[in-house]
Amino acid sequence: MDSIHIKQPKKPLALVVDDDNASRITMGAALRKAGFEIEQAASGENGIALFDAKKPDLICLDVMMPQMDGFATCREIRKRPGGEYVQILMVTGLEDNESIEEAFRAGGNDFVSKPINWTMFSHRAHYMLRAGEALKDLYLSRSFLAKTQEIAKIGNWQVDLQNNLCTISPEALHILGLSGGPREEITVKELLDTLIGTEQPDIYATVEEAIRERKTFTVNFQKTLIDSSIRYIYMYGEVLRTESGAPEFLLGVVHDSTQMKQAEEEIRYLAFYDSLTGLANRTLFLNRLNSVLEHSKRKKQSFALLFMDIDQFKQINDTMGHHAGDILLKNTADMIKQSIRRVDTVAITSTEEPHTLVARHGGDEFVLILSDIASPESAAIAARRLIAAIPQKQVIDGQEISVSASIGISVFPEDGQEANALLKHADIAMYHAKKNGGNNYQFFKKSLNRAVLSRFTLEQDMKSAIANKEFSLHFQPQLQFLNRGIMGAEALIRWNHPKKGFMPPDKFIPIAEESGLILDINKWVIEEACRQNRIWKDKGLHPVRIALNLSGYKLAEQNIVQLLEQNLKKHSLPGDAIEVEVTENVLMRDTEAIVETLLGIKNLGIKVAIDDFGTGYSSLSYLTSFHVDVIKIDRSFVMHCSDKEKNRVIIKAIIAMGHSLGMKIVAEGIETEEQFRLLKEYGCDEYQGYYFSPPIPAIKFEKLI
Ligand code: C2E
Ligand code: CA
Ligand code: CA
Repeated sequence: MDSIHIKQPKKPLALVVDDDNASRITMGAALRKAGFEIEQAASGENGIALFDAKKPDLICLDVMMPQMDGFATCREIRKRPGGEYVQILMVTGLEDNESIEEAFRAGGNDFVSKPINWTMFSHRAHYMLRAGEALKDLYLSRSFLAKTQEIAKIGNWQVDLQNNLCTISPEALHILGLSGGPREEITVKELLDTLIGTEQPDIYATVEEAIRERKTFTVNFQKTLIDSSIRYIYMYGEVLRTESGAPEFLLGVVHDSTQMKQAEEEIRYLAFYDSLTGLANRTLFLNRLNSVLEHSKRKKQSFALLFMDIDQFKQINDTMGHHAGDILLKNTADMIKQSIRRVDTVAITSTEEPHTLVARHGGDEFVLILSDIASPESAAIAARRLIAAIPQKQVIDGQEISVSASIGISVFPEDGQEANALLKHADIAMYHAKKNGGNNYQFFKKSLNRAVLSRFTLEQDMKSAIANKEFSLHFQPQLQFLNRGIMGAEALIRWNHPKKGFMPPDKFIPIAEESGLILDINKWVIEEACRQNRIWKDKGLHPVRIALNLSGYKLAEQNIVQLLEQNLKKHSLPGDAIEVEVTENVLMRDTEAIVETLLGIKNLGIKVAIDDFGTGYSSLSYLTSFHVDVIKIDRSFVMHCSDKEKNRVIIKAIIAMGHSLGMKIVAEGIETEEQFRLLKEYGCDEYQGYYFSPPIPAIKFEKLI
C-alpha cells in the first residue's frame, strides 16, 4: 500500500539573539511551545550571520549585549536582503521611554521588557508573525510592481486632488531620463516641469488643463534626454473618484514607447522600401506617383516617368546565380542614385528644386519620376546620364560581364493622365528601346524622339561653336529721341551654323540654357562686346555703350560680376561702356544671390536695364528695390501703339512711372514714323528698331558712328 504523505505546514522560524544563556533558553522554550522552530545566537554578529543563513520569520533581539548591542544589530539586519520586512521584537531590560524609542528608530517592530510575561510573549510572537506576512506580501508586491514597470517601461505618478500634492515613481523618472528615488509631495508645477518640461508648451498646457479641470487625458510626446537621445513618451492620466463621485486622485502612467516607435518605423520601412537596394518599393512609388500627379495637375506642370530595365539581367541571373544577380541590382541602384544627384543640378531649369524619386519596381526594373521638368529634353538628359552611369564592363563574383540598360519614357500630361497609363506607356517605350538593341532610351511618343534628337544634335554642335568661331555679335543702335544721336547699341548674338546657316538666338539660347552651355556663351558675349568696344575706342570713334543680354538662367551662380570686372579691366574700359539687360523674371526670384549680383554689377559702374518690360509681372516694388536704371518697353506694346488706345495708355503709364523713379526709358522695336512720333511725344528717352536700323555686323555699325 502506498503511503500517503500529508504535507505538514512548515513551522515558522524564530531567531533568539541574547548574550545571557538563561534568558536565551527560556525564551527559546517559550517560542518552541508556541509552535516555532528555534535558532539561537549569543551575540549580535552571530545573530546577523544566522539571519543571512536561515532567513527567520521573527527575531527576538536583546538590546543589552556587549560589543554589538541590539540596536546596532537591528539596523544592520534591516540593510540586508530580506531584512526590510522581517519582524524584529526588541527585548529591553528597562522600561524607559528612551530605549523604547531607540528600539523603534533602529527598525524594531515591537518591544517587550524584561522580566517577560510568557503568556503575553507567545501571543505577541504570533501576532507579529501575521503582521510580518502581510508586510512581506506588501513589500514583495511593491517590488514586483516596480520590476514589472521597469520591464514594461511604465512609470506612474499621481496627483492628490484634495491638496494638489503630487508623487512621481522612480521608474517614471527613469523613463524620462532622470534619476533618484520617488518624488513626493511636490506641487503640480514641479510635477509638470519634471514630466514634460518646457520643450513642449502645447503638451504642457494640455496636461495642466486636464489636472485643473479634473479630466482624463492621453498625450504622446518626444523628449530629448541629457545624452541628446530622443525618447517617445506616452502619458495617460485618469481621474479616480470617491464613492460619492468627488474627484480624489488623478492617477497617471508614463510609458517609454521608443522601441515601439522604432518597430513601427522598421515595419514602415519594410512595407515601403526594397531591402536589397534600399530604394523605394512599388507601393511607395505608386503612392508618390499619385501625389506628383495631383500636384502637377494643380500646378499645370509636366513630369516624366522613366522605366529602366537591365538588358542582360536574365542571362546573368540564370548563368551566374541569384547572388550575382543581387550584386548587379545593388550596383545598378547605387549608380542610379549617384547619377540622379547630378541630373538634378544640371538638367532642370525650374527655380523650384525638382524632386526625383527612384524606386525598384520589381525584378530588374527601376522606375524614376522626374517632376517639374521644363521640357522632354530634361527627361532625355536624365535618361542619357543614367545609361552612361552604368559601367559597360563590371566584375561580379570575379567574372567580367557586360552590362547595359534600356529606358522608356512617358511624359505627363501628353502620354497619360493617370498613373497606370503613364506606367504602361513608359513600359511600352522601354520595350521599344530593347527592340532597338538595348542600351538606349525611347519616348513613348515617337515624335518626341525626333524632336529631342534634333535638339541634342544642336546641343552637340553648339559645344564646338565657340571654338570654331561660329558665333558673332550684331549691333542694333540705340538713339536719343531728342536729337537722334546714337548713344549705344544692343549686342545680339548670331550663330552661323556650318550646315544650317544663320540661326536666330530664339532657336538655340533656350537649349543652351537647359544644357548649361549658356555659361560659356555668356562669357563669350562679355569678352566679345568688350573687345569690340575697345577697337572702336582705339579707332577714336564716338563712345558707345553696348547692352548685353545676360540670360537669367542661374545668373547669380555664374560669377558674372567677376567676368565683367576682368574684361573691363583687360580692355581698360569704364563701367559705362557696358550695360546689362535682364528680364523681369530674373528679379522675380528675389533671392539674396540675385540682389548681390545686381549690386556687384552696379558697383562696377554698369547700368542695369529691364528687358521686355510689361510682359512679366511688372511689379513696381522690385524695380525700386533693385535700383534698376533703365526700362525697355517691350516691342509688343510699341507694335500696336498707333491703333490701340490700351497700348498707348500702358506706354504712357510706364514712362510716367519710370521717370518718377528716376529711370531712363527705352522703346524697343520702333518700325514706323508714326510709332517714333508717338513715343517721342510721350517723353520716351531712347529708341531702337528697324525704323532706324536692324541689328548689323560691327563693320556696318562702325560706319554709322
Ligand atoms: P531681345 O533682347 O528682346 O532682343 C530684341 C529682338 O528684337 C532682337 O531679335 C532684334 O533683332 C529684334 N528687333 C529689333 N528691332 C526690331 C524691330 O523693329 N522689329 C522687330 N520685329 N524686331 C526687332 P533677336 O536678335 O532675334 O534676339 C531675340 C532674343 O534672343 C533677344 O530678345 C534676346 O532675348 C535673345 N538674345 C539675343 N542675343 C542674346 C545674347 O547674346 N545672349 C542671350 N542670353 N540672349 C540673347
Ligand atoms: Ca534685349
Ligand atoms: Ca527686348
